[in-house]
Amino acid sequence: MPSLSVFGAQWGDEGKGKVIDLLADRVHVVVRYQGGANAGHTVVVDGQKWILHLIPSGILHPGIVNVIAAGVAVDPITLLGEIDGLMKRGVDVTPRNLRLSASAHVIFDQHKRLDALNERWKGEGRIGTTGRGIGPCYADKASRTGLRIGDLLDPAHCAARLRANLAEKNALIERVHEEVPMDVEELVSRYTAVGKRLAPFVTDTGAELRAAWRAGKELLFEGAQGVMLDLDHGTYPYVTSSSTGPGGIPSGAGVPPQAIGRSIGIAKAYCTRVGEGPFPTELMDAEGERLRAAGHEYGSTTGRPRRAGWFDAVAMRYTLSLTGADGWVMTKLDILGGFGPLKIGVAYHRDGERFTEWPSHLSSFDGLEVEYEDHPGWPEDIAAVRRMEDLPEACRGYVARLEELVGVPVVMLSVGAERDAVLSRGL
Ligand code: GDP
Repeated sequence: MPSLSVFGAQWGDEGKGKVIDLLADRVHVVVRYQGGANAGHTVVVDGQKWILHLIPSGILHPGIVNVIAAGVAVDPITLLGEIDGLMKRGVDVTPRNLRLSASAHVIFDQHKRLDALNERWKGEGRIGTTGRGIGPCYADKASRTGLRIGDLLDPAHCAARLRANLAEKNALIERVHEEVPMDVEELVSRYTAVGKRLAPFVTDTGAELRAAWRAGKELLFEGAQGVMLDLDHGTYPYVTSSSTGPGGIPSGAGVPPQAIGRSIGIAKAYCTRVGEGPFPTELMDAEGERLRAAGHEYGSTTGRPRRAGWFDAVAMRYTLSLTGADGWVMTKLDILGGFGPLKIGVAYHRDGERFTEWPSHLSSFDGLEVEYEDHPGWPEDIAAVRRMEDLPEACRGYVARLEELVGVPVVMLSVGAERDAVLSRGL
């Protein structure tokens, strides 16, 4: 298999973890290139559930190298907890199968604290962040006041930079938010100790990835969140603070664009979104509640109920065109069994204008009406189906119609959380 980018083509939580876990066997290296520990990827293997926050899903496969690259915002305490949790369950995590970039930025307690305080400050205008400090960490990175993983390995240097960072953060916490400041020396000693434990994993991951690529090894780039949450191209300001699509790979992983190979988007057979922000096909009624319950749509990291709605062909066409996706995987098709008639969002309307393309230029989505197309549902449970011809006719018709509307082929269907619950159509 050539190198591959797998990314979320909706608002995140599309089931990327499962697909990446499935594909990890076919590559040498799995790479996280952006985002932080808010992305809880859920993988189910032999009835056992694994939730991975920072470590790439390839860790569950012996012999695969897993890389946390420079573009990731790393909470080192969460990372150590994740390493320990995996080791306790019998997964070997060593510097042979986990590599951590010295250039990745560090999420500290002050970032988490400010994440919550900033949301409180914004009140009604809050974004609905996961409160993991990712936004404030990336803000420090852009302000050139952040610390990188490599800085943690040099205690004196780390202490000096951390003290400088905290002087500013404590001023904000005390004078703007009127809260108790952080204990600087406690943080300095805790994080330098963490640096010592992580040291064996730390390396120049960009150099290693480029060498692997030049040597003809296959790389799998694992995106977190989804393209509709992309910092530049998503529903700003209700977005995450990184470049979520394949566009984020060259800078986040430190590889040339040619190293990406094929790009595959992941999308559910319907839509969900966590947090605030535009979601045109959202169901605000009992049907939405039913969809949320059927799909177990609750955040794997935060437990927050996800907003749920119909498949949005306009948004999906946008994300697939933006990323130049070669194909997409439709997940959770099994969840739609028993629903119907199914609706597909095909265009938007407002003030007499009809939008068939994602209206990025709008400053607000208030008053936007969705034009739906109805599609017959199917009553059958399709979780055990493994061949296209065994799917109910209405289900096959639904897949074909979505494919036609978005203009990119479906290369795999997923009908359950387990690794083998898929129908391959070329992937
Ligand atoms: P990710 O962040 O994109 O990996 O998505 P999450 O892990 O947050 O959410 C996907 C959830 O759906 C997980 O609990 C998966 O085990 C589950 N899942 C993935 N694919 C399917 C599927 O095709 N059918 C069903 N029923 N569950 C699935």
